[in-house]
Amino acid sequence: MNKGGGPKMLRPKSCPRCKTGDVGVDKDHHGWYEFCIQCGYLRDLIGVIEVETKPSGQAKGRGRGSRTSGKGKSKYA
Ligand SMILES: [Zn+2]
Repeated sequence: MNKGGGPKMLRPKSCPRCKTGDVGVDKDHHGWYEFCIQCGYLRDLIGVIEVETKPSGQAKGRGRGSRTSGKGKSKYA
């Protein structure tokens, strides 16, 4: 049984430098990078960008629903 062992992103023998090292992918505060556990090859992975869902400014500055200031006709009880 070979249970357990999380999804490790490790590509065996795919190091462009030493050709025989295992290349893993990890992430730090800078972003994703790949590294060879054998020769120490390191490379930033650009292109992998975290998708940030941020609401774009919309429905803004539309004069709608504003109360009409009482001008002209004054209402009295
Ligand atoms: Zn290597």
